[in-house]
Amino acid sequence: MKDVVIIGGGAAGIVAAIFAALNNSKVTLLERNDKCGKKLLITGNGRCNYWNSDQNLNHYHTDDIDILKEIKTKENDNKILDFFDSIGIVHKIKNGYYYPYSNQAISIKNALITKAKLLNVEIINNVFVEEIIKDSTFIINPNKENIRSKKVIITTGGMAASKTGSDGNGYNLAKTFGHTISKPLPALTSLIGEGNYFKKWAGIRSDVIISLYENDKRICTETGEIQLTDYGISGICTFNISRYASIGLNKGKKEIVKINFVPWLNSSLKDYLNQKAKEMKGYSISQILEGFLNYKLVNLLLEKSHIKNDDMWENINESNKKLLVNNITNFKINITGTSTFDKAQVTTGGIPLTEINPKTMESNKIKGLYFAGEILDVDGDCGGYNLGFAFITGMIAGKSIKGDNND
Ligand SMILES: Cc1cc2nc3c(=O)[nH]c(=O)nc-3n(C[C@H](O)[C@H](O)[C@H](O)COP(=O)(O)OP(=O)(O)OC[C@H]3O[C@@H](n4cnc5c(N)ncnc54)[C@H](O)[C@@H]3O)c2cc1C
Repeated sequence: MKDVVIIGGGAAGIVAAIFAALNNSKVTLLERNDKCGKKLLITGNGRCNYWNSDQNLNHYHTDDIDILKEIKTKENDNKILDFFDSIGIVHKIKNGYYYPYSNQAISIKNALITKAKLLNVEIINNVFVEEIIKDSTFIINPNKENIRSKKVIITTGGMAASKTGSDGNGYNLAKTFGHTISKPLPALTSLIGEGNYFKKWAGIRSDVIISLYENDKRICTETGEIQLTDYGISGICTFNISRYASIGLNKGKKEIVKINFVPWLNSSLKDYLNQKAKEMKGYSISQILEGFLNYKLVNLLLEKSHIKNDDMWENINESNKKLLVNNITNFKINITGTSTFDKAQVTTGGIPLTEINPKTMESNKIKGLYFAGEILDVDGDCGGYNLGFAFITGMIAGKSIKGDNND
């Protein structure tokens, strides 16, 4: 009889296994892939951005912020950082983003797996858990492996990047125990726009202020780089607003993105262009704009404003000037969708925090059943928040399982 079986060997599952084993529990970790931590290896572009120095809770999004506060305590934050230190991870911080000093996600994965093995965690790969039943104990895959365990931690992740093993099947396991699932939707992903002009700006990176409007009300704003693509927009700032667009579109709301391509300008763009046209005698409007915008973008913005590239600013009629200023400072895209789960980094939605005990991660419905990681209804911004949440909840769940295994 195992003290605990953990379903899913990703970020949350491996950490849960380690902390349960540190608590003298007899631990088995079941992973459907032939290796644990497949997703970990692709995080942070292969560098694994595993934490962020800014742990303000506004970087996390959930159904119940008060419960999240009990999970994301300063004490737990410190404990998880100490833990990474204890398994030899030297960090480097870039703009608040923590990476292993090696710059390789495999450093994190290997350090975790080595620790789990040193603590005699039994890791069984190539086991897909499709059924868990409970009588006096839990029975995992009763018709196949038929493993008995006193407790179970489900860490099967969400639905993002299903090729790594997280395809949402864990929600079904949770549902069999009476848990509800807030609709899983793609987050930290690209946005698809309406229109046929996107090919003209594909490949451009631009520093902007980007805002999302829902039914004409501003929902959120990000400042930084976006990537203009042949279907719409991408990049970190886009990713951070995508969860709201995903949720809004799912509810049938109208989602509009507005982009300011001149975030550095504090005064009116029209006054700026009036002044520049005086100073830059003989320069056409496109030549003036190319001083601060990508030329492909200039071509598109002028075309959309019914202005020719070689027009002189002073000869452009007032209504087209107004249109151009608006297109540069308030470029509007009707959002028709987000990229699919396969291209998303995380899932928004999942098991509501109201259904678990934040001190232990135990289910409020079934004694001995625990959850950790992305299967829960918490999604974070880009910057190490999602792994951070998976690690902390894995730690809490693992720590709350006490065993008497003295092998
Ligand atoms: C491309 C990409 C880049 C990312 N970069 C970052 C980053 O830099 N920083 C950051 O904080 N976050 C990042 N994330 C998000 C982060 O990786 C996830 O939030 C985190 O891995 C979630 O951890 P988890 O353990 O809950 O789930 P997962 O890591 O998805 O692990 C779940 C595991 O369960 C296994 N499993 C599923 N079902 C079963 C089953 N029935 N039986 C057995 N095993 C099962 C899966 O195979 C998988 O190994 C990124 C995500 C992607 C896709």
